[in-house]
Formats: sequence, structure tokens, C-alpha cells
Amino acid sequence: MLCGSSPGRNPAYATAARSLAAALVRRKIGVVYGGARVGLMGVLAEAAVAAGGEVIGVITPDLAAQVGQAGIHLEQVATMHQRKQRFAALADAYIALPGGFGTLDELFEAVTWNQLGIHDKPTGLLNAAGYFDRLLAFLDHTEREGFVKAKHLASVLVASDADDLIEKLAEHRAVRVGKWS
Ligand code: AMP
Repeated sequence: MLCGSSPGRNPAYATAARSLAAALVRRKIGVVYGGARVGLMGVLAEAAVAAGGEVIGVITPDLAAQVGQAGIHLEQVATMHQRKQRFAALADAYIALPGGFGTLDELFEAVTWNQLGIHDKPTGLLNAAGYFDRLLAFLDHTEREGFVKAKHLASVLVASDADDLIEKLAEHRAVRVGKWS
């Protein structure tokens, strides 16, 4: 789960994080996330644990000391790069909630690794309150301008509703289009 370490201005973002947590727990899907108590990360993890879900936080010692979430199984890794490797090893799919640079970094790494065939993990955006609309418009531009293949772009799944997004991720089949072929 990729989500902001801030809550954002619109309360709809936290509402979406809670409804995603509930939808995952209903389906017995575990949550892997960044292990912090702050922002949407904390909202999502707290809601998933409260509903009886399995939650694993992966965090560096430095972040754990500053913002580690109590009451959650936290795995410590030495560096932020190891943290992302561990996310990839533990997660079957990625969902990005509204967030900032950290969220976007993790999202685009997941998508880039898909298109290079390094891994093959369904990836989606929970577009709460239209937060990602302008990013999606820019991503269309990257395709029109010839930097991203249409099939790779289409592999980034989008829904504004948590259940719809989980359905799309579950139905998604890997894109077998090379980056350069
Ligand atoms: P951002 O979207 O910039 O708030 O960053 C959120 C993402 O970056 C999360 O998915 C985390 O993996 C990571 N991250 C950023 N800030 C923190 C923090 N204070 N504690 C833990 N992880 C963080």
C-alpha cells in the first residue's frame, strides 16, 4: 500500500483509506505498508488492524524512532532501498492512495519494474476525490508524446471506489509488451 505520510486537506482521503482497509480485510487481503503512524499510512493501517486484518509495516530504524506505528508488526530494514525491495518481496499487488513524493516514487518504481519485467504486480490508483486526475492527464500526455506505450499506460489501473479497484487488480493480466520491442 503506497500512501501519503500526510493526511491531505480533504477529509475524503482518510475516508477512502478507511474504506480501502475495510474492503481488503473483508477479502482477507493483508496490508504491507511503510510502518508509520502519520498521515494516510497511519489511518489505513489502524483501520485494517481494528477490523482484524493482517498488517506488516516495513520501516528503517530512523523512521521507526520518529514515526513508527505502535501495535503493528514492524519489520526493520537498514535503508530506504532495502525497504522498497522488501515491499516488492512481500506484496502481490500495489495500490497507491493520495500522497506526495514518497508515494509517487514507490508507485512509479512498481510500474517501471512491471514494464521491464523485473516483477509482475498489478498496480492501481485509488483516485479518491479525483486526487490523481491531473497526474492521469499528464500520463496520457506521456503516451501521446511517445514516451510510454499505450499498453503500459493501460496497465496502471484506476478507480475511485476501493472495491472496484480491488476487482480490477484481481482481474488484471500481465502486460507482455517489451519496453523497446
Ligand atoms: P509521501 O507521499 O511523500 O508522504 O511519502 C509517503 C511514502 O513514502 C510512504 O509510502 C512511505 O513508504 C514513505 N514515507 C514518507 N515519509 C515517511 C515517514 N515519515 N515514515 C514512513 N514512511 C514514509
